[in-house]
Amino acid sequence: MIDFTLTKKQQELKDGLNQLGRYVIRPMSLEMDKKKDVPETFLRNFMKLSKSFQNEDVNEFTDAEAAPAKPRDPSKPSQTNRTAAIGAEELAWADAAMLLCMPGPGLGGPPVRATGTPEQKKRFLGMFAGMADGELKWGAYGLTEPGAGSDVAGIRASCRRDGDHWILNGRKCYITNGARAIWTVIFATVDPSLGRAGHRAFVVEKGTPGFEVGKIEEKLGLRANETAELVLEDCRVPDANLLGGEEAYASRAGGFMTAMKTFDNTRPLVGAMAVGIGRAAYEYARDFVRENYVLSRPIPRYSAIAERLAKTSRRLEAARSLVYRATYLADMNIPNAKEASMAKAAAGQAAIAACIEAIEICGAHGSIQGEHALLEKWFRDIKVYDIFEGTGNIQRVVISKRILTDLKAF
Ligand SMILES: Cc1cc2nc3c(=O)[nH]c(=O)nc-3n(C[C@H](O)[C@H](O)[C@H](O)COP(=O)(O)OP(=O)(O)OC[C@H]3O[C@@H](n4cnc5c(N)ncnc54)[C@H](O)[C@@H]3O)c2cc1C
Repeated sequence: MIDFTLTKKQQELKDGLNQLGRYVIRPMSLEMDKKKDVPETFLRNFMKLSKSFQNEDVNEFTDAEAAPAKPRDPSKPSQTNRTAAIGAEELAWADAAMLLCMPGPGLGGPPVRATGTPEQKKRFLGMFAGMADGELKWGAYGLTEPGAGSDVAGIRASCRRDGDHWILNGRKCYITNGARAIWTVIFATVDPSLGRAGHRAFVVEKGTPGFEVGKIEEKLGLRANETAELVLEDCRVPDANLLGGEEAYASRAGGFMTAMKTFDNTRPLVGAMAVGIGRAAYEYARDFVRENYVLSRPIPRYSAIAERLAKTSRRLEAARSLVYRATYLADMNIPNAKEASMAKAAAGQAAIAACIEAIEICGAHGSIQGEHALLEKWFRDIKVYDIFEGTGNIQRVVISKRILTDLKAF
């Protein structure tokens, strides 16, 4: 049964990351946003520090991903996704752009874990071993194209077999860590008229001839994190890099399902990050009210503001509960597409509302750069949480498809 109590290790992780966020990351946040970068020394130190958070539940922060999964005691269900959500909320509370810059396979990890052959998992995830003392490395996930964002089935990037290689052509846009990634999972189609059935997923390695970085985007928020365009021009990718091998695509929706399975794991984590940003804004406004309103303003006005804080807090708590439920199902290997979408949709909306409320509650202070510049930054950072990994509308489509299964229109 789902249990909301954090384990001792999860509580330690949460407390440790909160301290790190409060005293190290937050003070750097505005500078990172301005410079559109996270200092490498910080990332390097974080990788070293993260070793101290390692335990069997914190796979997100271990070097051991390439190793075969240890048999799990059935009486102790996995907590991997839950623990990752706890860490994601806490780090996003500190600085969400910094969190997206964390070295590791990133969004490219879930499709490799879900669909890769044992050899591919070992090879591609193994590349990230030893980062605490060695080179920092990133992975990326290349699905979106100009004209095919929400409409995943409509991708146009093409792939065709040529001997023991595949030739890839097309463009991918808005790819998180796309320029710095040592490899990117690229989705392409053997024939657009086949729709989902034509999809294939490849691990395309940096430096492969014909695989180039296009423009780096200037963004509203999350400015310290890189978002890149990737261009494939007659890019030859070996057969060995087709995720899961050809047999993985024997079923009609093999490649498409690789993309979708990724979302089942990542949407709750994106929801957790949104809760982290929303909580940051809410706590900021709450503390502002404590310091500026309680003693100096008339009580009726204060109670109206207190009610808004209560509503914001309630919505964030509810969103976190949905995130925990979705991660619980993922940890138990129970299908969670509906719950993952519910968690992400609710968290994005609750956090956007929290950021708007916080700015309004702080009055003019909230909209002016300077003293309260973090509020302004969170307000810019949060919007994309209702866009990437599927917009809010798309989450509602996913949910409605699963609650109206017997209607032909769906
Ligand atoms: C900062 C950032 C990072 C990103 N990182 C990545 C990444 O690493 N990898 C990657 O592959 N992609 C990434 N993306 C792309 C992101 O996933 C897409 O932007 C997103 O899926 C929306 O697609 P779109 O921008 O093409 O919008 P569109 O699909 O064109 O949508 C436009 C509007 O139409 C609505 N809409 C579309 N279809 C429907 C429908 N059927 N029903 C109702 N409403 C609909 C949408 O909700 C939206 O409001 C990133 C985007 C951003 C901004």
